[in-house]
Amino acid sequence: MKTWDAIIVGAGPAGCAAAYDLAVHGREVLLLDKSDFPRQKACAGGLTVKTVKALRYSIEPVVRQRIAQIRVERDAGRAAILCRRSAFCFMTVRQEFDYFCVRQTIAAGAQFRRISAITTITQEASGVTLWVDGELLRTRFLVGTDGVHSRVRQLTGMGSGWFWRAFALEATVPLPDASSQDLVFDFAPVRGGYGWVFPKGNHLNIGLYSCAAGERIDRARLSAYIRSRSGDVDAEDMIGQYAGFGAAQHNYLSGRIFLAGDAGGFVDPLTGEGIYFAIVSGQAAAAAIERDLEDGIPAHAEFVRNTAAVRADLGISTSAARWFYRNLDLGYRLLSMTVVHRFALNAFANGPDLASLAARVKQLLPRAV
Ligand SMILES: Cc1cc2nc3c(=O)[nH]c(=O)nc-3n(C[C@H](O)[C@H](O)[C@H](O)COP(=O)(O)OP(=O)(O)OC[C@H]3O[C@@H](n4cnc5c(N)ncnc54)[C@H](O)[C@@H]3O)c2cc1C
Repeated sequence: MKTWDAIIVGAGPAGCAAAYDLAVHGREVLLLDKSDFPRQKACAGGLTVKTVKALRYSIEPVVRQRIAQIRVERDAGRAAILCRRSAFCFMTVRQEFDYFCVRQTIAAGAQFRRISAITTITQEASGVTLWVDGELLRTRFLVGTDGVHSRVRQLTGMGSGWFWRAFALEATVPLPDASSQDLVFDFAPVRGGYGWVFPKGNHLNIGLYSCAAGERIDRARLSAYIRSRSGDVDAEDMIGQYAGFGAAQHNYLSGRIFLAGDAGGFVDPLTGEGIYFAIVSGQAAAAAIERDLEDGIPAHAEFVRNTAAVRADLGISTSAARWFYRNLDLGYRLLSMTVVHRFALNAFANGPDLASLAARVKQLLPRAV
């Protein structure tokens, strides 16, 4: 029986990022997905600058629109404009973006296979075996990048105690020219989250997101929200999905199996941003596997090290989300201040850069005491 260097389950941004890096190093990588591509994925498809920088290839062909300004709304009549000189967010349609990434990954040397079901996963000292569609597959390492409902997480029992979810629902509103519309985050329509409007050239993507327990988002509520913003328009492709959180709390007990992206809880609860974290956690898994195969350094410990900074950022974001959504009025007032919104926008675009923030605070502290 063939032994793959790595099997990656799920060919979204996390899976493609992991498979691409391993394939580029000449590793034998099998990328599995239950869907054929292109396929639909509930997602607003907004990529921040840090996401575009993290990718190993240009995504120019699938960028629909560049955004340098956000309109942040608290309620009717209260809005703050946050802007930068250069674009901080790139609008894509997930169907196109994901298909593009899958093609880059296959071109780099990964093998893609569409599957129906994984029934068992067994971890041994030297590898992992899995039954897939009645066939036994063997691999040195397994990466679960199969999204929020991860089968890998379920079958390995890796999700207990730390993993949690929140829901978002979105729809497409066709417009002959949406490029003149603002990108909007609106904190009025839901508790513990926001409504959004993302312009994408010929249409708007409008949705609702909440990470608050008990806050119900459904089709009727989104339809009413779309009508309140855009009038009596035809909304298409209404589709919802959960996002996975908790990577900061995960204690990583497993040896040869890794969870990345939504499967591993790598989503920011404050903003709902997940594509960046999917990519960097997928790349972290690939780097850890490569290190083990190349130098014998245990991949598991390396993965924990490789993701430490990003998990710390997600931990801070989790606390920030709790504070911000409980103190929305104060939070909104702070966000309307130039100095705060510059920091927030920069953090959203490029990452919080907590290391330089900590260094700056350290510099300032002796002067303050
Ligand atoms: C409505 C909504 C809007 C969002 N908007 C944004 C946004 O604008 N910007 C942003 O950064 N993030 C956004 N997110 C979050 C983002 O979509 C996710 O964090 C991101 O897609 C995670 O990537 P992933 O590769 O981990 O998982 P996914 O993109 O979910 O990919 C998982 C893949 O695994 C496959 N799969 C699932 N189960 C199996 C199985 N059993 N066997 C084999 N394959 C399987 C699926 O077919 C899929 O291809 C949004 C989320 C939602 C729900």
